[in-house]
Order: sequence, then structure tokens, then C-alpha cells
Amino acid sequence: ITHLAPLEEIRHKLGEELNKEVSVQILPHPRIPDVLLLPVDGPRPVKQLSSEVVVGAQCGSAVLRGAHVFVPGIVASPKYMKAGDAVSVLSDLEGRCTRGATSFQGNRVFVGNGVAQIDRSSIFCTAEPAKGIGVRMVEPLYQSPSFDGVLPNMAFLQNLPSVVVGHVLGPRPGERILDMCAAPGGKTCHIAALMRDQGEVVALERIRNKIDRIRQNAQMLHLRSIKVYCFNSTRAVSSSPTQGAEGPPFPPESFDRVLLDAPCSGLGQRPIMSCTWSLREICSYQPLQRKLFHAAVRLLKRGGVLVYSTCTVTLAENEEQIAWALETFPCLTLQPQEPHIGAQGMLGAGLSPKQLRLLQRFSPELSWDQTGTADPPLPCRADVDTIGFFIAKFLKN
Ligand code: SAM
Repeated sequence: ITHLAPLEEIRHKLGEELNKEVSVQILPHPRIPDVLLLPVDGPRPVKQLSSEVVVGAQCGSAVLRGAHVFVPGIVASPKYMKAGDAVSVLSDLEGRCTRGATSFQGNRVFVGNGVAQIDRSSIFCTAEPAKGIGVRMVEPLYQSPSFDGVLPNMAFLQNLPSVVVGHVLGPRPGERILDMCAAPGGKTCHIAALMRDQGEVVALERIRNKIDRIRQNAQMLHLRSIKVYCFNSTRAVSSSPTQGAEGPPFPPESFDRVLLDAPCSGLGQRPIMSCTWSLREICSYQPLQRKLFHAAVRLLKRGGVLVYSTCTVTLAENEEQIAWALETFPCLTLQPQEPHIGAQGMLGAGLSPKQLRLLQRFSPELSWDQTGTADPPLPCRADVDTIGFFIAKFLKN
């Protein structure tokens, strides 16, 4: 929720919009003042059909969050599929299905039933790729209101741990904040909203074609304090104090707070069944995360706050990086986090029990039975039924 209207007003408007489709409960989070919780109902008893449409994992996740299947997400369909056919939708978890296949027996997960809106020939046999809805979902396995285009300038759909990051960073109006790995800009926008759009949020992103998404999101939410640059953050520290008045590279100690939401193996966001825990893949992120850490510490003012976060669950990218950082940068100390709604850090990287208690870890694989009841109330479920995530907060002395 942004700073543009009070929570209750947005809750009311959201209710009006979403309840046109299905009746949904919208609840404020008990501890985070700018969060509204939307429940997901499921898994519901839906019977799988013999006609199968296979979609990419990203499309499959969108369906679980209430979307229909858009044509570009379809990778395989029955040979004679016609508009109007009833089909089951399966998500290709590992991206192994060949585009244009007529069937697929690999690692896939059923996400619900729908009605094809288009013939197979218009998906795979045209020069001009088709757009629009390919399968209209009528019996999704998980029922969730579609948030597409709903109050785009007042509310923003985010995973709970991502919102926690903004609060833990604790930006204040008038400050200068650096978001080192910013696209698509969810956390950047949250930070600017927490500052009531007063001050400056510098958003850096290395990949050029992701930059527009950050700008679009900032524009949609009327956030003018965000300055976006396409830049490699490992090189964001300038050697000359006169550089950096406008854009990167910046002189050392330019920022009041720095967010390093690091590129990572993303295992917290992948369905558990699709996790091929390749050690090589996990290890490939550690050096880049450390380079980014070096730049982060140099760019942060003394007395400033650095938050390191990842959407993964490995020790190598989380607690081991924290142990390394504390040893490498004696100026850093771990700080308590507010709010702290996740679990503490994991053993195994040589951190003390006190240090582990200062870390915040969200572990979806541990959440299934944590609440002890079959159907706990939504606010309790929301804190544990999350993506895998990790947050550490440091002060630079
Ligand atoms: N903070 C984002 C949000 O909340 O929407 C998500 C960031 S995502 C975990 C990591 C991003 O870092 C990716 O978009 C990736 O392209 C970018 N990235 C990777 N290496 C980078 C570098 N050296 N400099 C700047 N950005 C980088």
C-alpha cells in the first residue's frame, strides 16, 4: 500500500474491485501497517482432465495467484485443440518441455482446469505470435482474486518478506537511499513510499531491458523521488569525490542507507519439487554477492544502515555471507530487525546464537505444520506460508 491514501480507504476500494469477481476477505496485517493480506483458497477438489495444456513455470505461478493463461505462456497443447475445448493446465517446473510439443511427461504440476480460447494452430503455427488469453481458468486449483490492473496507483502486489525488507531498512523522509539491484522495482517503490516520496532513492540495475519496469512501476505509483540508472553496481564506487553528483559512479559514503537485494539462486521462489540443488549454481552467486557487498559498504555513510537480502534458502548465500562480511568489514555490526516475523538464522556458518537471533529467515518448507491447526486464521498463515527469504541488517560504525 502506498502513502497516497489511508489503509482503510484502500482496503475499502480493493474490496469493491475484487469482490466483483469472487467474494474475498481482505485483512490488515497485525504488525505491518501498510500491508493488506489477500487469502488464497485451496487446494480445491478439482478433477484433472485428459486434455492437457502445458505452461511455463512463471505462467503456472501466475495461475496459482489468480491469473488466466496468456498465449505466450503456453508451451504445449493437445494436437487437435480448438477454442472452446475443456483442458487441464499443467506447469512445466523445470522448463524442459519443448515449445510446440503435443504432450509432456516430465516434472509438471496440475494448476487447474479451463477453457481454451484459441486453436492450437493460432498458437504455434503463425508468423505473428498470438497475444491475449489462451486458456480461461474456470476451476483453478487455488482460488485467488486476480489483482491485474486493480488500483495500480495505490497498491502493489508483493510477497510478505519483500515488504518486511523495506521496513527493516527503515528509510526516513529526506534521506538518500541506494537500491543496488533494483529491477523490477518492488522494493524501490516501497522504500520511496515509506519516505513519503521525500528524499532520493537511487535504483541501479545492470540489465538494460529491466530498467523500464522500474520506471513504469515508479510512475504508476506517482513516486518522483526514484532515480533509475542502468549500471553495474560492483562498479558503483568512484575514485574521485567530484564524480557522482548526478549519476553513478558515486563517491564513497554517499548514502544514508543501502539495500543489497542480491542476485541469488532463487531457490526460495521455486516450487520445492523443481529444486535441482546444483552446488555449482549456488556457488556461482557467492563471488558476485561479495563484490556487491564491497561496493555497498564503501557507498554507505558511517552511522548508516545496510540491509542484505536474498530470496533463497542456502547457507552459502545467506549465513555464510554474513559470517564473511563480519570478518571482512570490522566496521559492520548486526542489528535487530523490526518487524521480525520470520525464524532466526540457520546453524552451520560459525555464527553465534546471539548473531543467529538477529537474522531473519523465511522457510516455506518448514511452514506447513508450524501453526499446529489445519486451518489457522489468515494473519497467522500469512507469516509462515511465504516464499523462502533471508534478511540481515547491519550498522556501519
Ligand atoms: N530488488 C528487486 C525487487 O524487489 O523488485 C529484485 C532484485 S533481483 C533479486 C536481483 C536483480 O539484480 C536482478 O534484476 C539482476 O538483473 C540485478 N543485478 C544482478 N547483478 C547486478 C549488478 N552487478 N549490478 C546491478 N544489478 C544487478
